[in-house]
Parts: sequence; structure tokens; C-alpha cells
Amino acid sequence: MGQSLKLDTLLVHGGSAPGPSGATKPPIVQASAFAYDTAEELEDIFRGRAVGQVYTRIGNPTLESLEKRLTVVEDGISTILTASGMAAITTAVMAIVRAGDEILSSSSLFGGTYSLFKDTLGNFGVKTRFVDPTDLDALAAGISAATRLIFVESIGNPKMDVPDLAAIAAIAKQHGIPLLVDATVSTPYLARAKYLGADVVIHSTSKYINGTANSIGGAIVDCGTFNWQSEKFPHFEPYFKKYRNFAFSARVRKLIHKDLGACAAPFNAFLNGEGLETLALRMERHCANALKLATFLKGHEKVGWVNYPGLPDSPYFAVANRQFNGRFGGLLTFGLKDRASAFRVINALKLAKNLANIGDTKTLVIHPASTICADYTAEVKALMGVSEELVRVSTGIEDAEDIIADFAAALDQL
Ligand SMILES: *Cc1c(COP(=O)(O)O)cnc(C)c1O
Repeated sequence: MGQSLKLDTLLVHGGSAPGPSGATKPPIVQASAFAYDTAEELEDIFRGRAVGQVYTRIGNPTLESLEKRLTVVEDGISTILTASGMAAITTAVMAIVRAGDEILSSSSLFGGTYSLFKDTLGNFGVKTRFVDPTDLDALAAGISAATRLIFVESIGNPKMDVPDLAAIAAIAKQHGIPLLVDATVSTPYLARAKYLGADVVIHSTSKYINGTANSIGGAIVDCGTFNWQSEKFPHFEPYFKKYRNFAFSARVRKLIHKDLGACAAPFNAFLNGEGLETLALRMERHCANALKLATFLKGHEKVGWVNYPGLPDSPYFAVANRQFNGRFGGLLTFGLKDRASAFRVINALKLAKNLANIGDTKTLVIHPASTICADYTAEVKALMGVSEELVRVSTGIEDAEDIIADFAAALDQL
């Protein structure tokens, strides 16, 4: 189904194929392996002369169904599903870098991504330079001869900063390196990252795409926009020769994803695909509720500050408004007096759940400094914009009046 259709329609229909007996859902193929009548047929598949499923770590029809749908939704050329968002980031990045290479990354990152770059990949000889993604001069200055990719989050979690993706894409292009965008928080509903210059789009489908917090998953979308035939990427040469424009997806699927083994489970892929159908409807409500809650918190005497890119006085409002068409997502952070008051408000909330997740239908809160970012030094916390008085809210799709009443009552406890 082509790109003439609008996003909301593509989320429902795009890339979908009828299942057996005309089923309007893909079958959940709960199988590890796929049999062929002859040795020749299986050889043809292994050699790439024929297409077919072999083993679920490498591919599976239920996974393929969501891969096709995400490819259409993101207007990419290919998608690889993974076990989690972290698996997607690890797989995509490891397909590109080798020991001695450098990553230029936003300093405003999901905690797992930060430790992947800093510690895990650091231990394998891949160095990451972390820079403020809203400082384009610092970003350009961070590129060295060894840099092989730029990595940013479309909306920083939990810093809530919004980098100018088109401007960053221009810097990446100028240096002949790809731009990888973790678009988990913005989702395709706010913007298709490809249209803002992303070469590879990454999602934790566990969050807004799944939407109801019932299964972990990740996705790597190859936008097909980067030319991998370059002296910076000699390791892509065999893939470029054989697969041309699909060199990145081929190296991911045939080498890194196969070797790392972080494949999606068929049932999780099915559930994440169920969520994709209602993404636009949920995001519309998430955005509306987050703006209402941010506005309420902003006007509350006990609240020190509110960080939501949809507030007109946010330093990120102009960029976010332009690149996300007046939509700002469901995440926000706010500051109280100190850690004790943050704890007191979290403990007093009745509707909002205190847990480590975002993108659920339910409103969620967390105190990042003592939980998801607890292992970081004060310096790293500062880099990530995580202070002791900060509370992160993933605004749900409940009635906004009930959400606001919950926060109002909790703030009254201070
Ligand atoms: C949650 C999250 C991830 C990691 O995804 P998992 O599915 O939990 O592995 C990566 N990036 C962002 C922005 C996230 O919010």
C-alpha cells in the first residue's frame, strides 16, 4: 500500500497481508524452524537464490508481517525486528562500527543506550563522544576521522530536549556518515524520522507502538538513504556488491542480528503489531493529555519547573513545533523542591503508577535519579539532565481531568 495514503491509514492497513482463510490478522507462527522437501531447496535459501524462512532467530512469518508494516509506515526499504529496543540499538550500531571506530552520540540518552556506548562498546574498543545534540557547533566539532555514525534520540528520554534532526542530518551527510535516530518517544505519529534526515530509524516497540505494556520489542528500519559504498565502510563492500541499496539491512540480518541472536519472539511481534494499528489514536490523546498536565503543573505553586517541548516557553518549542507539526508527545518532566518532595508526590499519586516504563495507556511516573539513572555519577546525571528533584511522567490516555486531579491531590500533600 503506497505512500499516497496518510499515516493514520498506513498504521491500520499499510503492509498488511491477509492471513490464512482471509484472516485479518497475521498468524502467530510459534515455530523455531521451517522444513523443506529437498536438500536443494534448503541450499537455495541459504545461498540466497530463493526466499524462505529457515529458523526464527533469522526470520519468521509473524515477525516478517510487522517488519513489512513498519517499513511501509516509516517509508523505509526494510525493517528488522529485535527482542527489545536495546537489542535494536546494539544490533544496528554493531553492524556499522568496528574496533577503533567512534560514535558521535547525543549526551541526552536513554540510560541503557548510554551504558551500551560508554561501557559495553567502550570495552570493545569503540569510543563514543557525547555531545549536546542541540548545540550544532559542538556536534560538528565532535566528528573525527574515526567517526562512523551519529546517534540521537528524536526527543531525549528523560532530558526532553528536541534536537534539530534536519540540521544534524546535514552535518552527517557532509561527513559521509549515517544518522541513526532513536524515535521511540516521538513515534512515526509525531514525524517519520526519515523525512527529517534519518538514515536508520530505531524503535523500542515496547513503548508507544505496543501501547499497552504487554511485550518488549525493538525495530531497526533501514531508510535506504545512505550510500554504504564508501572508503569509511569497507566492511560493507561485499554487502553493497550483492545487495546494493539494501547493504545495511543485509549486513544486519545476515551477520550481526544472526550472530547476536537478539531476535523477537513471534507472540511479542504479534502483540506489538496489534498496538501499531491504534498508535495514532493513542498518541493524539497522549499529546493532548501531556500538554494539559504540563500546563497545570506549570501553574502550580509547589512545582519548581516543567520540561515539556509543547510549552511555548520551552527552549525546544520552536524546533519541536516545526518538525513534529504541532505535536509534542506524551512524556514530560517536572521539578519539585528536592528528592524528598519528589518521593512524597510519587507516593501520594493514586492513579499514576510508579514504574520503569513509558508509553503505556496508563499514566506512569518515576524518580529517575534514584532508579533508572541511579548508577550514574553526579556528572553523568547532570549531562543527562537528571536532577534529584525531577519526576518523569509518561502521560496516559485516561481522562485529563482525572490525571490532573491525581497530581493536584498528590501536590497537596507537600
Ligand atoms: C525504552 C527505551 C529504549 C530501550 O528499549 P527496550 O525495549 O526497553 O529495550 C531505548 N530508547 C528509548 C528512548 C527508550 O525509551
